Amino acid sequence: MSTPQYEVYAIKYAHHTRRASENFIGGVPHDAHDGPMPLDYFVWLVRGAGREIVVDTGFSAAMAAKRQREHLRCPTEGLGFLNIDSKKIKEVVITHLHYDHIGNFDLFPAATFHLQDLEMNYATGRHMGQPVFRGAYEVEDVVGMVRSVYAGRVRFHNGDADVAPGVSLHLIGGHTMGLQVVRVATRRGWVVLASDASHFYANMEQVRPFPIVYSVADMVEGYRRLRELADSPGHIIPGHDPLVLERYPASSKALEGIAVRLD
Ligand SMILES: [Zn+2]
Repeated sequence: MSTPQYEVYAIKYAHHTRRASENFIGGVPHDAHDGPMPLDYFVWLVRGAGREIVVDTGFSAAMAAKRQREHLRCPTEGLGFLNIDSKKIKEVVITHLHYDHIGNFDLFPAATFHLQDLEMNYATGRHMGQPVFRGAYEVEDVVGMVRSVYAGRVRFHNGDADVAPGVSLHLIGGHTMGLQVVRVATRRGWVVLASDASHFYANMEQVRPFPIVYSVADMVEGYRRLRELADSPGHIIPGHDPLVLERYPASSKALEGIAVRLD
């Protein structure tokens, strides 16, 4: 049996304006211009062979207000544009437990959540006593995931694992202790949803790590691992780069600026 080929979508749901110096450890070189370098926020959809797999669940309008992000739509509304009903989704990959990747988990009541052991350890362990490590976590989201564990709805992985034929998870760490990326078989080859293993193309291409980090060494090693997993650098999809919407075609005319096809 040959490996299925999946459709892969990035769906934008929020935006945040910031300066380039905020996106790199050490800022920008002193002779470089510190211009605007905004973040887009996405969830991703993998679809094919009778499966619908959602990667990350985004955050709510209330969380956007709390954290002063520009909320464009509920991620489930964005998925709805692609005829996905979040209430019926059975498989959700959680790349890591930061607020912008795990909020809204309650809008997926039928889902099993795929999560790395190390990510739960990190989000519930000693390092969360330090603001520098807990800043991008929301305790209610993490507690919600713990409740999901008790409900039998979290599928833990310890390193690399298959979710379906042609869809695999790979532990990268770096940004958080248990960050995982998703590798998908598509008609153009192996595409890797890097999530926050590289926020922007520039982080991995220039080896200039993003400043929210558990292990700089693992983050830098992760850039190499991403290239190993993907068929080419052009098959790696960064987690927050607005360029993703420019480099890939809209999934339909009506969804320009909202959803693109990555396959
Ligand atoms: Zn993120």
